Amino acid sequence: MRIYNTLSRKIEEFQPLNPLYVGMYSCGPTVYDYTHIGHLRKYVGDDILRRVLEVNKYKVKHVMNITDVGHLVSDGDLGEDKIEKGAREFGKTVWEVAKFYEEYFWKSVDTVNIKRPSIVAKVTDHIEEQIRLIHKLEKNGFTYQTDQAVYFQIDKFPNYTKLSRQKLEEKKVGARIGVVVDKQKKNPHDFALWFFTVGHFKDHTMRWSSPWGQGFPGWHIECSAISMEYLGDCFDIHTGGIDHIPVHHTNEIAQSEAATGKTFVKHWVHHNFLIVDGEKMSKSKKNFYRIDEMIEKGFDPLALRYLFLTVCYRDKLNFTFESLKSAQNALDNLREIIRDWSFSDEASEGKELHGNYKKFMDSVNNDLNMPQALAVMWDMVKSDPLIGRTDYSISAKVKSILEMDKILGLKLDEYLGKPLEIPRKIQRLLSQRNQARQSGDFKKSDEIRREIKKSGFKIEDTLAGYKLKPISDK
Ligand code: AMP
Ligand code: ZN
Repeated sequence: MRIYNTLSRKIEEFQPLNPLYVGMYSCGPTVYDYTHIGHLRKYVGDDILRRVLEVNKYKVKHVMNITDVGHLVSDGDLGEDKIEKGAREFGKTVWEVAKFYEEYFWKSVDTVNIKRPSIVAKVTDHIEEQIRLIHKLEKNGFTYQTDQAVYFQIDKFPNYTKLSRQKLEEKKVGARIGVVVDKQKKNPHDFALWFFTVGHFKDHTMRWSSPWGQGFPGWHIECSAISMEYLGDCFDIHTGGIDHIPVHHTNEIAQSEAATGKTFVKHWVHHNFLIVDGEKMSKSKKNFYRIDEMIEKGFDPLALRYLFLTVCYRDKLNFTFESLKSAQNALDNLREIIRDWSFSDEASEGKELHGNYKKFMDSVNNDLNMPQALAVMWDMVKSDPLIGRTDYSISAKVKSILEMDKILGLKLDEYLGKPLEIPRKIQRLLSQRNQARQSGDFKKSDEIRREIKKSGFKIEDTLAGYKLKPISDK
């Protein structure tokens, strides 16, 4: 399996630290507002990576955090805590805000068939671990304290920007968002490990005691503390959106390696954005769509998952409803075709996989080339006119599509070999519609079509007759 490593800027052969086990950490959501489909692109990307590792027979321990404190409006330590801001805007407590949006997050990721991580760690449940890590950094001489915070001093850490390869002069210091920069900072790029609940943060609700004073952790320390707690000082894969390269992950590397003296992570995997009209879909730009808006418009959430698979994870994906419709149509067609494949365990037992399965795996193992993998899958699906026959070739296809779906995650087993069941009432309406059409009563036939639609089915007239499709399949 080959995958791009942001650290080396190369596609590398993936070699885990332990030959069978893979430790994988993903930065989780900041639960202060609704999860949008931009987030879902990144979590589907993580899910595909995890499934590919599993199909390659690795046992994956996948850890993800839930940021419920400490993430300020700007990634560069400025502004208000996002959760506290959310609480103020929605008139709720910080705890209610975090709980509500975390639940919404899980509901959203479930709809697109993302596997839940092996371990989910809330930041507020891991304050001790973060304090311990800051303590270690202090002992190793990487920290200093001002009236407002405990900071990590970046010039003490050699090669601080090795992940982003930015020159420090080019690195933006967060724009001012209604707060003054801490003038006691030694270097504008030093980042906070622990904020004190004084001055700007004097009313901060979430606060804990620490050896340095009452306060709350900075955003970056949580991911170092949580990942190393569950995966050890060195682990295999760390994922995130590309926005995390210059600040969050740069800081994670600095503080983790300064604490342990060891390489923190072997492979850094970063997902590109879902964009709308050329701009990143984001909560702050208010240009986002939520998954339930898609469902209300009649789309199946798995069509969104399909859409994500059509673009490589390292490329931008420009979201349009047109492209979502195409994804929906492709998924509908796929479901329709495989409904007609006769399938039984006995028939496929002992049968070989289709030749395209290897090509499919070659594609996914080549830096998760999912568009190519989809093309190979379609090539197989359409390859053989023997649709519906329980012979060798169809069994091989049946077996292969199920194997491929372990990675695609499109729940194809729910359709495979399951011809559409047409309820009696619809069958009756269909024959009435036929009669109406035969007698030239098109007004009546249209009325019946509308009634059938109300019952959840749509009719497509073709030269060869008509096709009935469930609208829930859309
Ligand atoms: P947040 O909850 O804002 O911390 O974001 C959680 C994750 O979603 C991060 O890894 C972000 O990089 C990622 N993310 C946010 N917006 C987008 C987007 N429009 N497209 C892809 N990933 C995104
Ligand atoms: Zn993180």
